[in-house]
Amino acid sequence: MNHPALAAVAEDIARCMRCGNCQAVCPLYSVTLRESMVARGKVHLGEALLRGDVEASRVLADRFDACLTCLACAANCPCGVRVDRIVLAARAVMADSGLLPLPKRAACAVMPNRPLLHAGARLLSRVQGLVFRRRELGMSPRFPVGLGMRRVVPSLPRAGFRELSSEVTPASPPAPGRPGPSQGGAAPSPAPARAPSPAPARAPAPAPAHAEGRIVALFTGCLADYVYPDVALGAVRVLSANGETVVAPRGQHCCGYPIIAAGKLDLAREMARSHVRLFSGLDVAAVITLCGTCGEAFIHHYPELLAQDRELGPAAAALASRAHDISRYLHSVSSLNPALLGPLDLAVTYHQPCHLGRGLGVEREPVDLLRAVPGITFIALRHPDRCCGGSGAFAFGHYDLADKVRRQKLADAAETRADVIVTGCGSCRMHLEEGLSHTGSAQRVLHTVEVLASSVSAGR
Ligand code: SF4
Ligand code: SF4
Repeated sequence: MNHPALAAVAEDIARCMRCGNCQAVCPLYSVTLRESMVARGKVHLGEALLRGDVEASRVLADRFDACLTCLACAANCPCGVRVDRIVLAARAVMADSGLLPLPKRAACAVMPNRPLLHAGARLLSRVQGLVFRRRELGMSPRFPVGLGMRRVVPSLPRAGFRELSSEVTPASPPAPGRPGPSQGGAAPSPAPARAPSPAPARAPAPAPAHAEGRIVALFTGCLADYVYPDVALGAVRVLSANGETVVAPRGQHCCGYPIIAAGKLDLAREMARSHVRLFSGLDVAAVITLCGTCGEAFIHHYPELLAQDRELGPAAAALASRAHDISRYLHSVSSLNPALLGPLDLAVTYHQPCHLGRGLGVEREPVDLLRAVPGITFIALRHPDRCCGGSGAFAFGHYDLADKVRRQKLADAAETRADVIVTGCGSCRMHLEEGLSHTGSAQRVLHTVEVLASSVSAGR
């Protein structure tokens, strides 16, 4: 088959030597024991599609849809096969063959349209009580509304990040008696409330850098904008306390990854162009993302989507080099001043989102930042990088599979006895919160930057 997306992954397909190493790490195989779930089977199907041995069909579309794009296979492949790229290319073939199911078509119509998405979110936040009933950690349907009755979805706040924050937030002056960002200073002593952590109680505090005077742009992403505004507000609070002026441009919209994952690459390319124009036009030192998947869009997908675009290709590459996930930024680029951190009496564990950890290589940064908070007891998960099963819209189409994968993660989390599961992705959070709601666990889920923001507030 002659399709540009498939042709672009032909080398990846050819590299697979059918060793089956990917089987051991595939979360879907671990809960189904079905070879069709494993990367090897998907690469084989991709090859058959490329050669024209099979045609795009509903059966094939379902096979490629049944993948978390968790990158576990790619990270453990001895031949370096980027299975995620093959899966996304095959989905593009399916989408271009008219095989996109109706809910995904609807999502592709709404997600890129910022005014429509905004109006929909505001309307939903007002009428959700009619259709959903409130329960611990979210809301569940009162009657079938296209969602399974077991579903627990987050309760939408009345106001999103943009209604709660201005477009530009200036750096806040250091609190009296506290050294400013460039002056460093010792972190406050840990609060003596809890038993000592089994792991080293405090990581070495990040070295202070010259953050003050910097202007940074914030990309919130849809979930931190509409569902979890405290994440974006927390990021603004931490960055501004750290001496940075934060610009959250109003023209931003969905990062486009859900559109890429659905296979609508031309539409995703238009979204990438819009963001490259918007953020390249700002005179900022960095662009900060709050979710691994959004970060991957800016850092990996935009340059790839616009590689042939003479006008915007170089700008996309330049933008990618200035884009950072918030935890990497606060850890290694413009180090968070430890003197800002006040004590929190909290036991936390950390779930590493696939696209943040394996996708962007942000692994130790969130953990180091959490351990630098005085009073926090950090307990590592048995498998911090195991996929939670959320994967964006995956749970909508494959609820039972997503639930089975999630149970493994929640069992690990329960074993830690942590108060809070910290993560760096809104989609993981939504999925984990639903699982916690089902089990009745008292554990809660927070974003890394929300914990840091609470610590900064406690330090004021
Ligand atoms: S994708 Fe990699 S790990 Fe899986 S069968 Fe092919 S070469 Fe082996
Ligand atoms: S990306 Fe994840 S779910 Fe998909 S085949 Fe690879 S390991 Fe399995």
